[in-house]
Amino acid sequence: MGADFSKPDIVICGAGPVGLTAALKLANHGISSHILEKRSTLSQVSKASTFHPPTLEILAEFDLLDVMLSQGCKAERIQYRETGGNILAEFDQSVLQGDTIAPYRIHLEQSAITPHLLEKALATDLVRISFDADVIETGQDDNHVWARTTNGKTVSGTYLLGTDGARSAVRQSLGLKQTGHVYPGRVLRLMVAKSFGELMPDMAPVSYIFSQDKRSVSLLEMPDCWRIIIRIPPGVSDDEVKDPAWYGPIVDEFLPQCSTGLEILGTDVYGASKMLCDTNAVGRIGLLGDAVHLTNTRGGMNMNCGFHDAYAVASAIIDAVKLGKPERFHQELQERLRIARDVLLPRTDKSVTGKDDWLTFIADAAADPGTARAYLLTSSMLDMAPERLTHPDRLSNKV
Ligand SMILES: Cc1cc2nc3c(=O)[nH]c(=O)nc-3n(C[C@H](O)[C@H](O)[C@H](O)COP(=O)(O)OP(=O)(O)OC[C@H]3O[C@@H](n4cnc5c(N)ncnc54)[C@H](O)[C@@H]3O)c2cc1C
Repeated sequence: MGADFSKPDIVICGAGPVGLTAALKLANHGISSHILEKRSTLSQVSKASTFHPPTLEILAEFDLLDVMLSQGCKAERIQYRETGGNILAEFDQSVLQGDTIAPYRIHLEQSAITPHLLEKALATDLVRISFDADVIETGQDDNHVWARTTNGKTVSGTYLLGTDGARSAVRQSLGLKQTGHVYPGRVLRLMVAKSFGELMPDMAPVSYIFSQDKRSVSLLEMPDCWRIIIRIPPGVSDDEVKDPAWYGPIVDEFLPQCSTGLEILGTDVYGASKMLCDTNAVGRIGLLGDAVHLTNTRGGMNMNCGFHDAYAVASAIIDAVKLGKPERFHQELQERLRIARDVLLPRTDKSVTGKDDWLTFIADAAADPGTARAYLLTSSMLDMAPERLTHPDRLSNKV
């Protein structure tokens, strides 16, 4: 096999945001890693775009918050509206300034930050990355782990992290399965020119508009465009929904103020699943991020939770290696699984399924400062962040 067991490398399979965060956190504490990435470059696919406060705290620790602020769109206000333009509820995240150093969201493509994570990681001289390294098999004995790739490479180390996304080969090699279901219906994203903001100057950077019959459209301000996110009813094809003849009347209904003058820059369609593994750890191998949990994109939480998985499990490996506490690895992986199962999935599910109660709750919450703050602590994931990130005042709100 030719494996070199002399170095205490952590083997990281997958160079998405989760794998890169783990590598950088480990390297900042003097622990080396070898990342295996099946693509020939980092992914450029447009996926997550919302970065919540605890994730921004991680990026601040990595000295990347300034990059986020300079490249991204800072979002402090969240609005819930009716189709006629009435604002049902508005929340201002700046009330969280005692709870976090970043009392706001930043909207930026995840592919804009992964190169910075990699650059920082490589600059430590403790991280190696092999591209075109498609992991097909993993293995372990009592003290070592290894991963084998399609091009015959075998990389070994002391722990292995499966950060290889929804179709995780590491998960498959452990014989573990994600179970769950695909959410019915898909989503159309319309990318609209920034001039939309001039047509709707009071629209918050994160806005949800509800019709009388509780259908909804979401809006997200990005650095270079606005996104209008429309839920597609079952039975309509992807090609059909990308046609202005399909989405035009919906835009007119939800945004009558700008039925003319919208400049559409692009469209795409995606679906979502709710999936979870029963187990995320076997021996010295742990699974993180999309390899463990998948959910809908409402509230933009799944990648953020993956960042937190990476930060927390890397911290546990640091404790295992530096403090001689090997039990921390499994403890932290169990805690991350609990967070995904008991907090992330129910929370994101509720925003999709509980529409009637949800709007009443939201309107009531916005009207009461104490309830509004409590709601913002949950919608910004501050209550479910890894322990070491939390501001001392916030610990009483932990789930
Ligand atoms: C349209 C869309 C919008 C989204 N919006 C949000 C949002 O606003 N907020 C949010 O929090 N989340 C959002 N998500 C979810 C978010 O994108 C994912 O949770 C996130 O990408 C997970 O990161 P990851 O590193 O676990 O996996 P990935 O990003 O999938 O990275 C996995 C990496 O592993 C590599 N890999 C795969 N298989 C192998 C292998 N066999 N060997 C080696 N390497 C391998 C892949 O090439 C990839 O580079 C969205 C998702 C989609 C699709």
